Amino acid sequence: MPAAIRLALVCAFSVLAGAQDSHDDRTRHAVESLAAEALRSQDAYRNLGVLCDSVGHRLSGSPQYDLAIQWALKQMKADGLQNVHTEKVMVPVWRRNAERAALIAPAHHELSILGLGMSVPTPKGGITADVVVVGSFAELEKLPGDKVKGRIVLFDVPFTGYGATARYRVLGASAAARKGAVGALVRSLTPISFDTPHTGVLHYEEGAPKIPAAAVSVENATMMRRMWERGETIKLHLEMACEQLPDAPAANVVGEVLGSEKPEEIVVVSGHLDSWDVGQGAQDDGVGCALALEAGHLIQRLGLKPKRTIRVVLFANEENGNRGGLGYLEAHRAELPNHMAAIESDSGNGLAKGLSLELHDIKGAAPVNRERAFNLFKRLKPYLEPLGAGRLEPGGSGVDVGPMVQAGVPGIGIEHDTTHYWDVHHSKADTFDKINKDDLARNSAIVAITTFLLADLSERL
Ligand SMILES: [Zn+2]
Repeated sequence: MPAAIRLALVCAFSVLAGAQDSHDDRTRHAVESLAAEALRSQDAYRNLGVLCDSVGHRLSGSPQYDLAIQWALKQMKADGLQNVHTEKVMVPVWRRNAERAALIAPAHHELSILGLGMSVPTPKGGITADVVVVGSFAELEKLPGDKVKGRIVLFDVPFTGYGATARYRVLGASAAARKGAVGALVRSLTPISFDTPHTGVLHYEEGAPKIPAAAVSVENATMMRRMWERGETIKLHLEMACEQLPDAPAANVVGEVLGSEKPEEIVVVSGHLDSWDVGQGAQDDGVGCALALEAGHLIQRLGLKPKRTIRVVLFANEENGNRGGLGYLEAHRAELPNHMAAIESDSGNGLAKGLSLELHDIKGAAPVNRERAFNLFKRLKPYLEPLGAGRLEPGGSGVDVGPMVQAGVPGIGIEHDTTHYWDVHHSKADTFDKINKDDLARNSAIVAITTFLLADLSERL
């Protein structure tokens, strides 16, 4: 970050924070130090580079995931965190192995595919079938059964946002199978493509036959759409040798900065350590891990001593099972009432524009006082505004912290700018070269400041 921008940010802090909260010099000093040090040190950038290049992608149950655990433990210890340890969870083990798809008619084209995570394989030798192209679940439902039976259904659904489009990847295979299809293809979830397929998890619904499913590049999907609209017969050969092995041990990695006044009360700051098995898992979610680690590291190194304990958690298995998040809930159920908040960053390295707060009522307890919680949450605003992250709104938090948030812990999502996140998400292109150094430094400041302020608030959310 250029010195001028750095100075401007630090000055803005002094003015804003000073105007709103002049009695609290300690907080202002802590926030200024965190911002200045995050922007100066670039440690998150260096650490993320090591994770991406020297560990690489790290799907649950892979040898690389074990290497990632070692990387995280070493980093936490080097950063001076306390109580550094792993917490074992059992994870599903899915392996991609060889896969291939080719059009046979109306012309020969090798296709760019990535099998969807947790897919079943094709029979040995693959399947050859005609392709049916649909643009929605409704279109599929309208087709007569004999038009789908024995065929491969292609869901050619343009990307209109992750939530809206991901359901075709997650549920498409079962919807196609219920109508007798023998395979499913999904147009990759991305607004832009250079013939790069994007993988992701699928979910087989109970009662539907399990059929193999893969993501196909936007270029290939739109080509088949054009053929379909011309009324041509599309014949395709699909071969996938993926396999589901027995569950294997993995772990969440945990380290702490102990609280100075209420060490038993906890603020979790987190990302997920696993990734898909292509690219380097740089944006998803190497960034979240680097930011959570750096939050702990900066607060520790600057000797800021927040009132409550900061617990850095790098979760296992977000991508295809969420066993890390579920395992954390089970292991820490007894101390859950002591969890002040759980922060997660899992949407890449776009500059964070703000935070979202997720609150859930717990069965049998008094409903959450949302107005009070939100007013407390808003106290962070003047400290985040100079960094461009002053948008504090109700919203979601993260998949990994999800189980504890559902159980009543206030969840905090880091709201990154996702304009270019989906371009590389879950694809071979999610690599370290796309990480903007200055954005990562600024995001480090935002996450560290958020973590410190929550751990140091006078009251609980
Ligand atoms: Zn993720």
